[in-house]
Amino acid sequence: MTVAHLQIPQGNLFVAGRWVPAMSGAGREILNPATGGVLTTVADAGPADVDRAVQAARTAFDSGVWPGLSPRARGRILLRVADLLRHEAEEFAELESTDVGKPITFTRNIDVPTAIETFEYYGSLAAGIEGAVRATAFPAMAYTRREPIGVVAAITPFNFPLILSCTKIAAALAAGNTVVHKPAEETPLTALRLAELLQDAGVPDGVFNVVTGGASAGEALVRDARVDKVAFTGSTSTGKRVVAQAGETLKKVTVELGGKGANLIFADADPAAAVHTAMSGFVFNTGQFCMAGTRLLVERPVYADVVDALAQACSQVRVGDPRAPETVVGPMAGPRHLAKVQSFLDTAEDDGIRVIRGAAPSTSDGFFVAPAVLVGAGQESRYVQEEIFGPVLTVQPFDTEQEAVRLANGTSYGLAAGLQTRDVSKAHRVAAALQAGIVWVNGWAMLDVAMPFGGCKQSGYGRENGPEGLDEYLRTKSVVVAL
Ligand code: NAD
Repeated sequence: MTVAHLQIPQGNLFVAGRWVPAMSGAGREILNPATGGVLTTVADAGPADVDRAVQAARTAFDSGVWPGLSPRARGRILLRVADLLRHEAEEFAELESTDVGKPITFTRNIDVPTAIETFEYYGSLAAGIEGAVRATAFPAMAYTRREPIGVVAAITPFNFPLILSCTKIAAALAAGNTVVHKPAEETPLTALRLAELLQDAGVPDGVFNVVTGGASAGEALVRDARVDKVAFTGSTSTGKRVVAQAGETLKKVTVELGGKGANLIFADADPAAAVHTAMSGFVFNTGQFCMAGTRLLVERPVYADVVDALAQACSQVRVGDPRAPETVVGPMAGPRHLAKVQSFLDTAEDDGIRVIRGAAPSTSDGFFVAPAVLVGAGQESRYVQEEIFGPVLTVQPFDTEQEAVRLANGTSYGLAAGLQTRDVSKAHRVAAALQAGIVWVNGWAMLDVAMPFGGCKQSGYGRENGPEGLDEYLRTKSVVVAL
């Protein structure tokens, strides 16, 4: 696969408005998931690089160059970022597709448009950041101020690099914070290109910094006492470590973690639409989606028909070259992700589970895996309880609404859930009973920048998107002036 026409970032970190190499000179190879070949080498930041980036963000914050701007002035710059991103949409779509292995149709129609909308949304919302005048029992002029928190460490995972970078950066900057962003070690390329765009849009030096690196860079950021808030998205196991490390300096933390989304098909649902939703719910983004619908619960009268329809649909999913417009499922983003998925598929049949497989491309290159439906996995099995993070769906029957809700809520996760039904009362009743940060009825992954998402239970806490997502980057100060 040729990617010669793309401007692929290499080699440097973005600190205080300049491109600088890692102090140690260390680099990290970035792979093309569709071929397994090396795309580029980026700087591998160590603690000294993190120190320098945090100092740049601290200095920029304390100088007032960004928090001292009016919210409207900040918003105008973020709207300019959206314009520049729109201008470079195709470049970003191709870069994201090449770096992550996402089908180009999706990066063109979902990832990049969502990134643009996120800057537009928070650029517009910035104008509404304001406090309130309060009545007191004694003579005073009393009011609240909504202030930025300070330096934000924005740490993101590999699966939606551009969208998750933008979600954190746009909200944090709209609120007036400065940012050190550490993208995932496997997929940092669009974050690096974003740094150029922010600079071109007029974000002052030091306000936005990017360090590429792995766990040690992330840990150095989280532990640094000059960082005031950590916005983390990643696995539940890393999230627990982040919360513990951030606790040492009592930072404000939001953690957006793993999921094991339950999708309930009731017997009254539109059968074709329900199966279509079930399929897209687990194959979207090659199943590397925290909010994927990876547990299908089907009401017994339609269970056998749904399993048959899934087998049929699975055989028709187009798995292959992410650059081909007809591709629906690309490769896994990297070898460690493929190995994890494979470790579940390798044992499933021995554990008495029927495995229905789709077709994967017949190539030994790249990190491809065929979609798979697991029929007969028990509620307490690891297939149902653990996040596989690939295109793998478990299917279980249920007999009553109560049983469906019990099974759906019966994991340690609580991120996304959904139900397919034509009964309006049941829709609202079950939506209220499901333990999840977001619930979809008659569809899946209906996400919008205006609608907050986030976890309950071990899927984490905090919300991104919507006004709630902006609130996470603001704090309230009360001012009371005696009269
Ligand atoms: P991960 O936890 O391995 O890594 C996430 C980020 O944390 C990376 O940038 C990594 O370098 C960094 N990191 C690793 N160790 C660290 C440490 N000790 N301190 C600070 N940072 C550290 O996750 P991943 O494999 O990249 O991503 C997949 C996971 O992310 C899945 O569990 C998925 O469900 C979750 N996810 C959640 C959401 C959400 O909104 N809830 C969205 C996307 C992905």
